[in-house]
Amino acid sequence: MKTDSSIIIKTPQELAILREAGGILASIISEVKCSLKSGMTTQEIDEKVEAAIVERDVIPAFKGYRGFPGCACLSVNEEVVHGVPGGRVLADGDIISVDVGIIYKGYYSDTATTVGIGKIGQNLEKLLSVTSEALYKGIEQARAGNHLSDISHAVQTYAEDRDFSIVRDFVGHGIGKNLHEDPEIPNFGDPHKGPVLKEGMVFAIEPMINIGAAATRILEDGWTVVAKDGKHSAHFEHTIAIGEDGAEILTK
Ligand code: MG
Repeated sequence: MKTDSSIIIKTPQELAILREAGGILASIISEVKCSLKSGMTTQEIDEKVEAAIVERDVIPAFKGYRGFPGCACLSVNEEVVHGVPGGRVLADGDIISVDVGIIYKGYYSDTATTVGIGKIGQNLEKLLSVTSEALYKGIEQARAGNHLSDISHAVQTYAEDRDFSIVRDFVGHGIGKNLHEDPEIPNFGDPHKGPVLKEGMVFAIEPMINIGAAATRILEDGWTVVAKDGKHSAHFEHTIAIGEDGAEILTK
């Protein structure tokens, strides 16, 4: 069913599938997370992601999506999102965003986490905790009766109050039978704007937060987004469903 704002409301049957998909994806991410260590290339990490996906008999959502070559977007340090798996070698003190999507029974699920390799600097610990917490602040606002931009505003104020920058060039999205559905979900904006949220909407909320300035550019591979000033960036994402009593995190 489509609402007038073209945000698809999922049926209970669809939500049940999306819930299962989210659980499978969460187990993939947590398995891969445990295997990360210095000396690995991002190509090797992508192979682990692919193996974990194949083992669960689900379909990698990113591989081949608009020609993307990997199963995961792997974005190291100054890379913001959409990092292409390749020869980059992880070193102690690095941070890496692992962003994975799957298709299960025709429905998409999408999640990302950023982790430190070995011991990371205090500033990076703070970047990771603030980005993760900003995501949860956004999720708290994803409740029926709120406006879409209440999510955006909560993410923005939490991060900016702690002197980090919100990436504005990329946004979260609705998700379901397609990886990207309406609405776009910016991580910034004034509160109480945009469509009213309803039970059964399913969103991928994904703050991307920089230590330096917000500006980004895309590398020559056509995919990898980096912070223009070369400073570190973090990215956390959950697929959530708006329920009777607030948001349910499907990818937890
Ligand atoms: Mg996403």
